[in-house]
Amino acid sequence: MFSRWKKAHPPPRSADGLAVRVGAATDVGQVRSENQDALGVFPEEEPRLFVVCDGMGGHQDGGLASRVAVQALAEAFAAAPPPLAHRLKHAVESANAAVWQRSDSNGDGRRMGTTCTVLGIGEGRVVLAHVGDSRAYRVTDAALEQVSEDHTVAAEMQATGVLTATEAARHPRRHALTRALGTAPHVEVLIRDLGPPRDGDKFLLCSDGLAPVDHPEVLRVARDYEPQEAAEWLVAQANAGGGPDNITVVIVEVAATE
Ligand code: MN
Repeated sequence: MFSRWKKAHPPPRSADGLAVRVGAATDVGQVRSENQDALGVFPEEEPRLFVVCDGMGGHQDGGLASRVAVQALAEAFAAAPPPLAHRLKHAVESANAAVWQRSDSNGDGRRMGTTCTVLGIGEGRVVLAHVGDSRAYRVTDAALEQVSEDHTVAAEMQATGVLTATEAARHPRRHALTRALGTAPHVEVLIRDLGPPRDGDKFLLCSDGLAPVDHPEVLRVARDYEPQEAAEWLVAQANAGGGPDNITVVIVEVAATE
């Protein structure tokens, strides 16, 4: 019976023998009037691409920056040659140029920018590309392991030993970005190879609007629930915790199909 069912409904197959399930949710939160976060999920592409951007700028510029970034990034990624790390670097640099040019064409001196946290899965690798203070985590049974860096004044002072973790967490410039997309003609992109994708791997990308939910709870929900259910529940919990900022969560789960 079971084998017949399997024959009639084979698991989704792809060239690399992996099935990737994704959950995604975004919300304006309880305080802001506009959602300036943007996300992109492309689980059917080869390689697969997942993006979270948190825009900033006056008026509606932040929302424009994050949307321009996601679109430019996806287009450049699709057209870029392998290897995956090069595709991602090229795509983020292209997104930077697109936001920078759009910002410049305002003509009124206003500047906009966005964070950009990207996961690529394909060519036998999982690779992170990252700029800003949105976050990427690897979700394991035991821990939520941050695989991105926070490109903020306080985090970089902590990394060089100027501040302790406690001091950094309270520092007035803990949210001030040292790198963003679209604020200069060139951007330094963090590229991190996270190794070959393995059965059961799970990754979470989020904007800083998820901060009201503490780490043990993020771990529990991301680990124990199906990705879409988990993403929606985490956004709901950030809202229940006051929703001070726009909230975006993308959860990616890898499974072997053979
Ligand atoms: Mn934010």
